[in-house]
Amino acid sequence: MLFSKVIGHAALKAKLIGNIREGRVPHAQLFVGPRGSGNLPLALAYAQYLLCEQRGLADACGACPSCQQMAKLAHPDLHLFFPIAFLDKKPHTCDYFTANWREALQAEPYIDIDRWRDRLDSENKQLRMGVEIAAEIQQKLALRSFRGGHKVILVWLPELVDHQAANKLLKVLEEPEPNTLFLLVSTEPEQLMATILSRAQLVKINALEPTEIADALRERFPELIADEALAIGNRSEGDLLEAVDMAEKGEAEHFVFFRDWLRACYKREVANAAELGEGFAKAGREWQKALMRYGLFIMRQCALQWMKAAPLVRVTGQELEFVGRFSTLLNERNAEGIRRELETAHTHIERNANPKVLFMDVSYRMMTMLKG
Ligand SMILES: [Zn+2]
Repeated sequence: MLFSKVIGHAALKAKLIGNIREGRVPHAQLFVGPRGSGNLPLALAYAQYLLCEQRGLADACGACPSCQQMAKLAHPDLHLFFPIAFLDKKPHTCDYFTANWREALQAEPYIDIDRWRDRLDSENKQLRMGVEIAAEIQQKLALRSFRGGHKVILVWLPELVDHQAANKLLKVLEEPEPNTLFLLVSTEPEQLMATILSRAQLVKINALEPTEIADALRERFPELIADEALAIGNRSEGDLLEAVDMAEKGEAEHFVFFRDWLRACYKREVANAAELGEGFAKAGREWQKALMRYGLFIMRQCALQWMKAAPLVRVTGQELEFVGRFSTLLNERNAEGIRRELETAHTHIERNANPKVLFMDVSYRMMTMLKG
């Protein structure tokens, strides 16, 4: 994880980088921040910068052997600990789950406990860390540093360490090994033993700003316009995961509506289209515009598929299935015509057109364009 990939927190990043450059590296640090704030990505970026062999002024180089291993979260001097599900007949160690944890982190470095639990076949068990994990940490401490620099022990959610294991963890924090660095990443520090709290230097991470969330969302959802992204940024209370959920939910709604509508147009089901038109008219103008933009996005994907440029198609799952089927209905004339219809509809909605009338007009033209 590079600092440049971590959303926001400019001042804190500069401070962390400055500390490393000046050789002020406390042996235990507690990165505390609310859900979706980026406490874990920041700790990972900190570790990468520390271990980088060609540090820049503002970030790790991203290219040295150490950075390459960090990109895969497979640096031999980075040891990852995290809560796990205690499954019958399976080891209660992080080692057993590490491959899965790396994949999870690469897919979503802002991950929270619920997302992680969903990934594990956890049988709905509470995730935790027990004495086995304390023993694992001790094993890692006994290893020599592979690359000759620091060893980093990164513990995600130390508040979920069992009492007995917490005492062992406290012991290693009290008797620091040279060149070994503990990064504890917590969202609920009040659940931590006070003695552990007192052993670690606090790195406080604030919730993100709405504008920071908005920018991050637009990178993840290119079809989202600035106003919508900012609206979500404002509603999500600085929690990137919450914001991503909101954006995804909006997209899912648009997909279902758009798919059902095109299906009705293709089958020339006028009554069905009219019923969808009622729903369309009732939704707010921002939603209607967002639907048209979403439609344009999906039609672009269909056009790419139709032009045999499948590797450029940027959808997955249900959407991809839809794109595969719908693209077979496209031809020289209607591909461009449908695009123009959606664009014009977007403009008309902006200019306060009667949504019901507009929707039926567009529906009739779609029916013609999709005819055999
Ligand atoms: Zn590097």
